[in-house]
Amino acid sequence: MSFTQADEKRVLDLVPTGVFIAGQWRESSNRKTFDVFDPATGKVLKSVSDASYEDGQAALQAAHEAQEDWARTAPRVRAELLRAAFEKVTAMSDDFAMLMSMEMGKPFAEAKGEVAYGAEFLRWFSEEAARVYGRYSTAPDGKNRIMVLKKAVGPALLITPWNFPLAMATRKIAPAIAAGCTMVLKPANLTPLTSQLFAKVLEDLGLPKGVLNVINTTSPQEVTGPLIKDDRLRKLSFTGSTQVGRKLIADSASQVLRVSMELGGNAPFLVFEDADIDKAVEGAMLAKLRNMGEACTAANRFIVHESVAEEFGQKLTARMSALKVGRGLEDGSNIGPLIEEKARQGVHALVQDAKNKGAKVLLGGEIPSGEGYFYPPTVLVSVPETCEILSNEIFGPVAPICTFSTEDEAIRMANNTEYGLVAYAFTKDLNRGLRLAERLEVGMFGLNTGLVSNPAGPFGGVKQSGLGREGSQEGIEEYLETVYVGIADPMV
Ligand code: NAD
Repeated sequence: MSFTQADEKRVLDLVPTGVFIAGQWRESSNRKTFDVFDPATGKVLKSVSDASYEDGQAALQAAHEAQEDWARTAPRVRAELLRAAFEKVTAMSDDFAMLMSMEMGKPFAEAKGEVAYGAEFLRWFSEEAARVYGRYSTAPDGKNRIMVLKKAVGPALLITPWNFPLAMATRKIAPAIAAGCTMVLKPANLTPLTSQLFAKVLEDLGLPKGVLNVINTTSPQEVTGPLIKDDRLRKLSFTGSTQVGRKLIADSASQVLRVSMELGGNAPFLVFEDADIDKAVEGAMLAKLRNMGEACTAANRFIVHESVAEEFGQKLTARMSALKVGRGLEDGSNIGPLIEEKARQGVHALVQDAKNKGAKVLLGGEIPSGEGYFYPPTVLVSVPETCEILSNEIFGPVAPICTFSTEDEAIRMANNTEYGLVAYAFTKDLNRGLRLAERLEVGMFGLNTGLVSNPAGPFGGVKQSGLGREGSQEGIEEYLETVYVGIADPMV
């Protein structure tokens, strides 16, 4: 598919530029704006309002005022709004995909995949909205009755990252709507446009004013920091780096805020001697290169049995060398730019450190000349365990390969990280697969697959990769409180 400048302009023109508070799009109180850049060219795409402290306060007040009525809205009404949003986003798939490709850099085909994934949270939670259950039972002594009911936790602050601009927003907004929570959304300031357009879709579909408020800001600490300490707020759901997550957990302590944290990862990708190597390479392409490697679920360390490491490395190199690097909206592009120059320098520093410590480069490893923040698909082999690249999130299209000789050694290497989001393993031995599921310290495990993300599965990590789950039945629980009602024996 190819796009003209007029196509790009038409899509950019759909995006509102203001803050969205109490159902109104308006300028920020200080009238400041900030620019949003195309990472493939470094050029400005559009400017949006830069929310101030006062805008943050107004957004929370709007969410607070809308909360009671919204929680009382019939679940079916909330469900049908989500269903309508699913239909609308799906119908606008090309527009959303173009917008994400422009502001984030991912290839158009991948952006279409994200639209499908992001929209699916709207459909999934439209189905969950009417399935929030309590229970009623008799106490063991036969006297009192126990009733348990669920209710919306209350106004939620949602903070999202730049790497999946639509899906990270819908993964939070959809369960919050389903549960009856109002929201203040603070999207990443590198990619605010997609959230702005999505909020417009919900507005057009009749979402009551104040239920969703959107404040983009270049000063998150000043704008959202006070909200976290404000007793009108009842919930914080954050997706982003472990470093920022840790700080927000600490800030949340002052009012013992309910928190959900989807943080960083350092996924091991294990290939055993009995694996189907072609399938493992196929899985590796997905796990490594989806989103140019800029995914929390990206395979960060390839841990391959010594007897198949050479074959795996060669086949992966052959596949990765065939990829076309280019702007996401360019025809046939498979690998877009990284999000910004700082990110590219970070990836390159990890590659340099590995080279300095003795790793061999099979492919890539050099920053190309020209505009945009492109980094080539890169394969490193014989990577010593002391390399920074094995302990840091790479967030780029770089595959470091190291080897193991026994299953115990592979598990030790895989668990040797403070992160615990996801692991992948390829083996034909089902018992081994089950042993790994029990022994790997992760919240998600891909067995003979390089992709686990699915709105019907509970997404989330253990250790320093986070708290709570998004998607699936668990996803709505994050926005619900449990209330226990003790009832005197009704028979006496
Ligand atoms: P980041 O932590 O820098 O920023 C995330 C969000 O937090 C952005 O909206 C940012 O503006 C905001 N933020 C930054 N400092 C803040 C502060 N002091 N107070 C309030 N908000 C603040 O992360 P990023 O670079 O946008 O995203 C990449 C990270 O996100 C990676 O570590 C990746 O693994 C992680 N991630 C995790 C998941 C998951 O589901 N586990 C999914 C996607 C991305």
